[in-house]
Amino acid sequence: MKKTHALVVGNWKLNPITLKEASDLAAGVARKNKKITDAYVAVAPPFPYLSEVGKKISKTPTSLAAQDVYHKNMGAHTGEVSVLQLKDLGVEFVIIGHSERRAMGENDEDVAQKVAMVLKHKLTPIVCIGESKRDDKGDFFNFVQKQIRSLAKTLKPAQMKRVVLAYEPIWAIGTGKTATAEDVKEMQLFIESVLTKIYDRATARNVRLLYGGSVKPHNATELHQDGGMNGFLVGGASLKAEDFTAIINATI
Ligand code: PEP
Repeated sequence: MKKTHALVVGNWKLNPITLKEASDLAAGVARKNKKITDAYVAVAPPFPYLSEVGKKISKTPTSLAAQDVYHKNMGAHTGEVSVLQLKDLGVEFVIIGHSERRAMGENDEDVAQKVAMVLKHKLTPIVCIGESKRDDKGDFFNFVQKQIRSLAKTLKPAQMKRVVLAYEPIWAIGTGKTATAEDVKEMQLFIESVLTKIYDRATARNVRLLYGGSVKPHNATELHQDGGMNGFLVGGASLKAEDFTAIINATI
């Protein structure tokens, strides 16, 4: 993937509630973006819709993503979904460590294990990081640094280069509060400096960074142009093909 082209991923979360709606949404995204060449696009529907959504977007530039994965491939793990199953359905990206999953108990170790499994099977992990609140002293930077260091502990430079990091400040997710483009730029520089300290500049430059947190058609252009990241992870606005497409177009 060329880093000059943004990656825009739609995280549908636990939506929509019928297969028909999921199928229509996927068809809408695929139709509106069928000629797209200057950005990468992916949608992450709930697991039960992956197969149908995969059919709707097949042979189009839109890729299939999953919202989570288990760190084991098969066996007695009721309720879990493995990377081999995702791969078999044509999934290319896997969101890992979303704050809504971390809120249910997922920790940095779980995240690292899942990332290792996804990389092993040549899919692309999109690892979510980000603080729950901002403070004047800047402790939120330490929090983000800790999340990156914990991930980096288990990854060699060549593996880290294949990871997409999604900076998603929790206070901005689904709240309508967006980080300013200046906040995003500051965090982009900070994350790159942390990666440079842990690895080296070449590795840091290779890691694709996304911003997520109430990205909408009206703020996407500024966040993209001045935020310095390489794309977006979009929640609410990805549930309308038109809004999602407007966000994609804002990156071109
Ligand atoms: C998300 O859930 O990853 C997200 C960024 O949500 P929203 O765009 O709705 O804030």
